[in-house]
Amino acid sequence: MNRNAIERALEKYAGHKDPTVRADLALWGPLLLEAADISQALRPSDIRANEPTNKELDQAVRGGPTLLSLGLVKIEEAAYADALKRLAAKLLETLKREGRIGKDAAAEVESIDWAPFATRAALLDAASDLPGYLERSEALWLELHGEKSEGLFENFIVIVLGLALRASLDRFASQCSRLIEMRDKPVVDYERRLTCPVCGSHPIMAVVAPTPQSGNAKKLFCGACGASWKFERIRCAACGDEAVSDLRYVHDEADEAHRLHVCADCGAATPTVFLKGEEIGVSPDVEYLVTEALADAFAAPVN
Ligand SMILES: [Zn+2]
Ligand SMILES: [Zn+2]
Repeated sequence: MNRNAIERALEKYAGHKDPTVRADLALWGPLLLEAADISQALRPSDIRANEPTNKELDQAVRGGPTLLSLGLVKIEEAAYADALKRLAAKLLETLKREGRIGKDAAAEVESIDWAPFATRAALLDAASDLPGYLERSEALWLELHGEKSEGLFENFIVIVLGLALRASLDRFASQCSRLIEMRDKPVVDYERRLTCPVCGSHPIMAVVAPTPQSGNAKKLFCGACGASWKFERIRCAACGDEAVSDLRYVHDEADEAHRLHVCADCGAATPTVFLKGEEIGVSPDVEYLVTEALADAFAAPVN
């Protein structure tokens, strides 16, 4: 996560014509910047990570065990607890400023006990099975506070947990992505997995960008850990369908850069950003927010 790239992107889209995009950026912008700052400030003793071997990298991209499941990363409790506190404060501050939270809800949020999510055992779980940790965190929360507290988890806690993990894992995930890319040159032909080779989450979007050697190339991007990996251009990122006749792009007439890759087989509409230049300096998180608004418009029934 790169503060400069996020800031530049937020500035670029600040005057976006779609009010949903502006509202999303106003909410997520400060959180992404906070997560970037947390990630930047992490010391080697806060996140201990071992580099995967070539064999582990090759197996991970071919659908074998994810890199996190190999136990290569250890997140320190104190650093994670601090990240949770900072992100929760930033989210509350932003919700208040945007007028999106009432007094009672704010008080409820302020009383959240984050400790159960940051125990040694919880973090061992988080660093080896990120999507599983989020699911088990919800189950734990409901067990402690009952079904009626589900909204608080969905609207607040999971956002904070997700961003704290992203901040914790972003550097490891980016490093692994670089290693994976190096292993893939010259381009190797194999069926690429549909979930993140680092953490096993489903990708949130695709990025298509020109490359010096092989024209436009597509990568999928994981919002959970920050990894990206190469993917077939004509293939659904959700179900893997490769039938040309099933796949098409839709986009707003005035904006060719942000598109949805729509699959007739499974119905998925994968947000896809088309870059004119290289990927460096682009904020995939912000591009995702801009494209996701298109998905909302696409999903809405036409009158
Ligand atoms: Zn991931
Ligand atoms: Zn599909």
